[in-house]
Amino acid sequence: MHELSIAMSIVEMAEEESARRNNAKIHAIHLRLGLLSGVVKEALLSSYEMACASTCLEGSQLIIEEVPVEVFCPACKTRVPVASIQWMVCPQCGTLTPDIVQGRELEVIAMEIETPGSQPPQSDPSHNNAPETNQ
Ligand SMILES: [Zn+2]
Repeated sequence: MHELSIAMSIVEMAEEESARRNNAKIHAIHLRLGLLSGVVKEALLSSYEMACASTCLEGSQLIIEEVPVEVFCPACKTRVPVASIQWMVCPQCGTLTPDIVQGRELEVIAMEIETPGSQPPQSDPSHNNAPETNQ
C-alpha cells in the first residue's frame, strides 16, 4: 500500500525531530498534498494512524492541506486553476496545456511540537550598566 509507506516515512521523520528535541511530544504534522500527487487523502490519514501506533507520535494529528492543480496557459501567459484533473485545459480560453505548475506536492510544511517549560525572560543587561563616576 502506497500511502502506508508514505505515512511511515512521515512518522519516521517526526520521530527523529522529536528525538533531537529531547523527545518532545509532537501534537500535529501539517502536510501539503497536491491533487496530482497520486496519494488519496483518506487513505493517507488512516495509514498515518496505523504508522503512529506504539510510537511517540501516537495520538498526534495529521493535518492535510490539499493543493489545487494549476497549469500555465501559453495563450493567456498566466497560471490558471484547472476545472478538473482529467481535463487539463485553461478555463479562460480552452487551450489544452500540459504545463503543470502546481499540484504534485507531497511535503511536510510544519510540525506542532510541545516545548516543555517556557524559557525564563532574559533580564535586560542595560540596567546593570549605570556609570559610576564619583571617584
Ligand atoms: Zn488560457
